Amino acid sequence: MVKNLYPRCAVCGVKVCENRGGRVADATPPTEKMPPFCPMKLMPDIFAEALVEYNKPEIREFARLASVQEFQCYERSPDGLRTKLPRIEELVQFARKCDYKKLGLAHCGGLAGEAKLLTEILENNGFQVVSVQCKSGAVAKEKIGVRPEEKIAGPEAWETMCNPIAQAMLINRAGVDMAVMLGLCIGHDTLFIKYCEVPLTVLAVKDRVFGHNPLAALYTSETYYKRLKSRLD
Ligand code: SF4
Repeated sequence: MVKNLYPRCAVCGVKVCENRGGRVADATPPTEKMPPFCPMKLMPDIFAEALVEYNKPEIREFARLASVQEFQCYERSPDGLRTKLPRIEELVQFARKCDYKKLGLAHCGGLAGEAKLLTEILENNGFQVVSVQCKSGAVAKEKIGVRPEEKIAGPEAWETMCNPIAQAMLINRAGVDMAVMLGLCIGHDTLFIKYCEVPLTVLAVKDRVFGHNPLAALYTSETYYKRLKSRLD
């Protein structure tokens, strides 16, 4: 890799890895237009290495099914492409494609209602759902060194710590085909991902302000949430 250069796709203006000019299926991407920070230019060996992985039959089939699922999320109309599937429906369709029968739901205690609704939908679609909420284990926050003044309910109150490691271990032991994360907090989700040993997908992440849609902050970052663009405390 060239010194001081690292992949920065997020600020790329040419996106030659996509098809922006209406190329036909067998055309060669105009790689001469790649910006200096393009990973295709900096680390071509990685793409070769990744293709070796995709050539493993199980991985190839999983990747194929994911792309077919992506395709099925659109429909052609006289006005052009239209989206048609909410993520929950995608989850049901993809799990069926993979022939999954048993799903593990790792959810936040603050989203217990949503977990119940999701379980109902998944069970109505024929899946067995093993669910474990974050407070499972009933371990006090003091156990991991949280100080009394750092408890949300106040220094005197009992407060159960989130236990993503136990969530992951329980879901692993249940022998589920795939785990689904619903609303775990930042950091707790990181631990869950670290300890989860089965295929994992995310239905939603926690955002206490924006109804678990963190992107709403980006969509309003030019207006009401302009302060997000300055250095945050
Ligand atoms: S891979 Fe290269 S061309 Fe594609 S977005 Fe990243 S920098 Fe741009």
